[in-house]
Amino acid sequence: MSPEDGGPPVEVYRRYLESGRLGFQRCAGCGAAVFYPRVLCPVCGSSDLAWETSSGRGVVYATTAVYRREDDPYNVVLVDVEEGFRMMSRVEGVPAEEVEVGARVTLRLDLTDDGPVPVFVPEGEGP
Ligand SMILES: [Zn+2]
Repeated sequence: MSPEDGGPPVEVYRRYLESGRLGFQRCAGCGAAVFYPRVLCPVCGSSDLAWETSSGRGVVYATTAVYRREDDPYNVVLVDVEEGFRMMSRVEGVPAEEVEVGARVTLRLDLTDDGPVPVFVPEGEGP
């Protein structure tokens, strides 16, 4: 199945990832970019949400290093993606404490046992 075949929003989102793309929704009612995928627009309540593919480019809005007892810290970020939505992810390729608010980042899909997971890398280091 391709993402365009429809179905529950989380299923469509997963198929986008499996096809190597970050999908999000755009509300036909008010124009809001909608992420995480859902059935109704959280801004205006419209159910008329159309899928689009993100460029994967964004800016770090917030970052936190999470420290672990016996391992390197990892980070959790909120990224403002250029199409106008914000998503929680992590930045790879730099030490967790050195991710800066305002840094430009690019999407990378990491393959895991649970399928592709969207993470970000500093701009210029993506595929
Ligand atoms: Zn809307």
